Amino acid sequence: MRVLITGGAGFLGSHLSDRFLAEGHTVIAMDNLITGSVRNIEHLAGHERFSFVKHDVTNYIYISGTVDAVLHFASPASPVDYLNHPIPTLKVGSLGTHNALGLAKEKGARFLLASTSEIYGDPLVHPQTEDYWGNVDPIGPRGVYDEAKRFAEAMTMAYHTYHGLETRIVRIFNTYGPRMRLDDGRVVPNFIGQALRGEPLTVYGDGSQTRSFCYVDDLIEGIYRLLFSEEPKPVNIGNPHEMSILEFATFVNTTTGNPGGIAMLKNKRIKGDPQTRRPDISKAKRVLDWEPSVNIEEGLQHTIAYFSEFVEVDS
Ligand code: UDP
Repeated sequence: MRVLITGGAGFLGSHLSDRFLAEGHTVIAMDNLITGSVRNIEHLAGHERFSFVKHDVTNYIYISGTVDAVLHFASPASPVDYLNHPIPTLKVGSLGTHNALGLAKEKGARFLLASTSEIYGDPLVHPQTEDYWGNVDPIGPRGVYDEAKRFAEAMTMAYHTYHGLETRIVRIFNTYGPRMRLDDGRVVPNFIGQALRGEPLTVYGDGSQTRSFCYVDDLIEGIYRLLFSEEPKPVNIGNPHEMSILEFATFVNTTTGNPGGIAMLKNKRIKGDPQTRRPDISKAKRVLDWEPSVNIEEGLQHTIAYFSEFVEVDS
């Protein structure tokens, strides 16, 4: 297959590029590099089945030749990034999704949208099943991401329903691993960076809010299976192992032997920060025969090993 991956130089896009190349496919990675980085794909330079195009997908996308699948992963994804780039986030979820769908339709390609657990907002149903409609404040700070992704899902389903396009929607829950940016502001890189520097881990609010962290290799496996499945409706992919942020901080400190302790930053939580989040993955199990296999101990070790290079560079 010849596959276009938008956001191909990002955290997830670069891992997807690796996976599709390893399976023998040809990959065109497209990225405008506002939050992605060529460092994530520099090991692929010169690969005969890989090419990189620097392009902002909110503008018309032109690709010559055949395209068999479009995976739309372009978007700022960490709260700090999308608060720094609110309008580009809204544009890539709306205009970018429209352009990527238009290309898929033109080429007769299968389309897969990277959606998110954020479409559930601050959920009133726990754990979150795919049939839950969510609890999102459209004009709150996180609305720029949440509503862009909700629109993207609506647009993707419309192309499926009205144009008969083969579409897939993955709702991605908190994912971590090598190639996250140390400074992207998310809790995993923040805590690991702080721990490796011997600093206190910055817990926002009272730390009672929960997240469920999925290692990147597990997520990529789920996405790969979804693309080749026959499921057009959204599928949650994530790890149901749920922890409070305070528990997670303690765990990171224990794992790294960080003497820095924990700093409780009561006022740092962004308005609308979900109080709980855990995927119900029954559908992924049933439809994709998928479930995560990497536990937090192992995943964190790989991630710490990756970040330790960058922390040394910084210091
Ligand atoms: N968080 C924290 N300390 C940090 C960064 C984040 O306590 O240094 C909290 C944040 O308030 C949220 C959770 O960790 O409740 C996960 O935040 P993240 O930015 O990783 O992503 P989110 O799941 O909110 O999109």
